[in-house]
Amino acid sequence: MNMQSKKIKFYQAKDIKNLEQLSKFSFKERLQMQAVASVLPFRTNNYVIEELIDWNNVPDDPIFRLTFTHPEMLPSQELNYVYQLLEENTPQKELREAVNQIRRRLNPHPAGQKQYNVPTFNGEPVPGIQHKYRETVLIFPTAGQTCHAYCTFCFRWPQFVGLDDLTFATRESGIFQQYLQQHQEVTDVLLTGGDPMTMKTKQIALYIEPLLEPEFDHIQTIRIGTKSLAYWPYRYVTDPDADDLLRLLEKVVQRGKHLAIMGHYEHWKELDTPIAQEAIRRIRSTGAQIRTQAPVIRHINDSAETWAKMWQMQVNLGCIPYYMFVERQTGAKEYFEISLVRTWEIYQQAIQQVSGLGRTARGPVMSALPGKVAIDGVAEIAGEKVFALSFLQAREPDWCKRPFFAQFNADATWLSDLQPAFGQDKFFYESQLEEILTNKML
Ligand SMILES: *Cc1c(COP(=O)(O)O)cnc(C)c1O
Ligand code: SF4
Repeated sequence: MNMQSKKIKFYQAKDIKNLEQLSKFSFKERLQMQAVASVLPFRTNNYVIEELIDWNNVPDDPIFRLTFTHPEMLPSQELNYVYQLLEENTPQKELREAVNQIRRRLNPHPAGQKQYNVPTFNGEPVPGIQHKYRETVLIFPTAGQTCHAYCTFCFRWPQFVGLDDLTFATRESGIFQQYLQQHQEVTDVLLTGGDPMTMKTKQIALYIEPLLEPEFDHIQTIRIGTKSLAYWPYRYVTDPDADDLLRLLEKVVQRGKHLAIMGHYEHWKELDTPIAQEAIRRIRSTGAQIRTQAPVIRHINDSAETWAKMWQMQVNLGCIPYYMFVERQTGAKEYFEISLVRTWEIYQQAIQQVSGLGRTARGPVMSALPGKVAIDGVAEIAGEKVFALSFLQAREPDWCKRPFFAQFNADATWLSDLQPAFGQDKFFYESQLEEILTNKML
């Protein structure tokens, strides 16, 4: 198919005031949006604005909510404070110090990512990688710590706003390769970010090609986590190095590795443009698989119909639904968060609408300190109403798929809000988890 090319144009917080599409908002509303966009990361692009957002449906349009800031994303005191600073044309440096203070109060690193997941090589921490689960190592390439647009709910947001001491990233020549060689138990490498697909093909190749050499035979799967299929599908179709990228993907497959593009899609609208579908088709033609994942987010995709339609479209397009996540506890979490029970209801009501091929989506799952905890359902057992839970992935592999139970709690939004059921004082994994974490600190 012949597709018209597009050159990416980014929009930032300061562009909100003058963006023509936003003219239906009052000056005050736009300045409020800018105030939020000065604290949380804000970036969008010409594809999102011209092809994804339905401007007749703003502000409720899901893609508008996904990428544009909203006054309620900040506590009103903070909002008014930043608003005033902007109104008074406060100098950049002063503004920056003020917003950084607010940012640090927004729980920038939930779930112990920094303290517990960075591994060591010869006694030194290996920058830019995380190794939480035995078989999978995450790599955060330095040049991939950005995205084609930013999601307003993003849990990686500290990386985008320059809270510098809080970022983790690795360099091309990094010792992560030596680390991988030393760890024969690792079968999967997951390139993540930000979005690694924001890098030029040449840079991506620096991370991937070495892994095709014989000393990395134990690495069977390369996954690439990306939102580019939704935010910038031109990456795979008309960008100057799009064809080079496809050839790189093809090469991985030809060398006998499984290549999984972990496509991040919040909404079926992101699958609905000709360019988005062409990008999927081209990736699949290389032999790579596309698996899909997203969190449930209030105001964006908190309906079973949205998920059922999205999964069905993904199956039709040859993608494999993989994870439905529970939104993490960071950033504008109060604006987006949904109770665990509501998240589970959405999953349960969506999954019954699709055939088995769409039921490969696992969840809803919390990526928490001990592991990925799925909410399997709500039940009544021996007169007690409980959540049935299980690990899909755990720091100790033997915890996986052992059902465990928490007291039902209608307001709970995260694992930390849950108490063990049946009069127990601890969940089955807690003593062992303490031991594991203590050993990591030694
Ligand atoms: C989800 C996740 C993985 C991958 O887990 P799978 O069950 O293999 O998909 C690996 N590392 C971390 C830190 C994760 O959160
Ligand atoms: S694509 Fe992922 S990393 Fe990038 S802003 Fe969205 S949630 Fe964050």
